[in-house]
Amino acid sequence: MQKKLAVIGGGTAGILSLTHFCTWLDNTWKVVSIHNPQKKILGIGESTNGGFVTLLQYGLDFTPGSPADMARLDATLKFGSMFKKWRKHDFLNPLLDGSTAIHFNNFNFREFAYERLRQLWPKKFGLIEGDVKRIQNHPDRVTLTIDDEEHEFDYVIDCMGFPEDYTDYVMSDCTPINHCLIHNVREYEFEPYTDHIATQNGWMFGVPLQGRKTYGYMFNDVITRKEEALADMKEVLGVDAIDGREYFFKCYYAKQIIAGRICKNGNKALFFEPLVANSIFLYIHTARVFFDYIAGHNDAPVSNQMFVKGVQDMEDLISHYYQGGSTHQSKFWDAAVKLTQERLAHRAPYHELLATYRKLHSEGTLHLGPTYALAPHNWRIIDKALGYGNF
Ligand SMILES: Cc1cc2nc3c(=O)[nH]c(=O)nc-3n(C[C@H](O)[C@H](O)[C@H](O)COP(=O)(O)OP(=O)(O)OC[C@H]3O[C@@H](n4cnc5c(N)ncnc54)[C@H](O)[C@@H]3O)c2cc1C
Repeated sequence: MQKKLAVIGGGTAGILSLTHFCTWLDNTWKVVSIHNPQKKILGIGESTNGGFVTLLQYGLDFTPGSPADMARLDATLKFGSMFKKWRKHDFLNPLLDGSTAIHFNNFNFREFAYERLRQLWPKKFGLIEGDVKRIQNHPDRVTLTIDDEEHEFDYVIDCMGFPEDYTDYVMSDCTPINHCLIHNVREYEFEPYTDHIATQNGWMFGVPLQGRKTYGYMFNDVITRKEEALADMKEVLGVDAIDGREYFFKCYYAKQIIAGRICKNGNKALFFEPLVANSIFLYIHTARVFFDYIAGHNDAPVSNQMFVKGVQDMEDLISHYYQGGSTHQSKFWDAAVKLTQERLAHRAPYHELLATYRKLHSEGTLHLGPTYALAPHNWRIIDKALGYGNF
């Protein structure tokens, strides 16, 4: 009898978790995707890092250079994030991992993945469309009530989006950003990177797809009134009107992702503002942690610690960018610098890391250092671009 893993959620996190487990579990497993087509995906979050492309190559035979595959995901190539107006000079920030990433349209992801999973992993891949009403964790299985029917699984990954209750979550103070205004343009000059443009009220991302370029104006709506943000976004983009879609969010991560036979992933596990496209990178980290747990390599306490270590490293990296301010003198940047410098002052692991990197760098062996969200040589590259003088 095949063992059964259910992945609930048809958004980015659900589909990449499904792809990860269809790829790496053997044929003694059934990996079932479950989602409610009536419940929309968040539909934002289209910049990635190298690990995402590697996962699609392994799991879906996705070929970054193939015009047909790229067109299916409305995708463009990405070699980093272009930081503008953070310093007098613009600089291309390296990817969190790998050397080639993509921008993709996450509304196209599910259908593309389902089609390839059916072809490549017919013995493993399964699909149930319905509404998960109840999840019951038992010592030897998990019972899901989908619509009014009960289904049994050995393990479950919950990628059902933002949590309703934050009791079991740590609220993060790694960034001052909590609000985003979206604007799409059809005509634009393509460049193979995600814009990260510092503004007087925060920063703005620019994600180029084949069919459109999406701008996201990130700010803090306690420091800046929405009208001010809108006015500045129009000016920066040179437009008279803004599309209008907006997102409000708080940053958090789960105190523990694994409880019994259930793991959280995606926005159900964590959310940080999208600097350097960290979310999908952390979802892949989380999928790997759960894989090692199911495979019996690590128990729940160790697995939960590995998750928390990964997200805390990312918190420090996000604060690392903000602590040096930008070319803008403003209420926002005064607050951002103060918040992140005070935060990092209390982060011993961050200071130990920089001390280790400095020592290894002086001995000519920086590459032997630990990865901390970013690989050591990329810490050196961004340190020089930001002018921090740690190396
Ligand atoms: C402004 C902004 C910009 C961002 N930019 C990036 C970026 O560039 N790169 C990046 O990596 N991330 C980015 N993110 C993070 C982004 O949130 C995530 O990448 C992504 O959207 C995660 O969504 P998800 O899959 O967790 O959940 P969702 O997209 O919300 O999907 C939830 C799924 O669960 C299903 N579901 C829910 N309840 C049930 C139920 N009871 N039964 C059955 N199915 C159910 C729904 O049908 C849906 O399919 C950004 C976020 C914001 C706000």
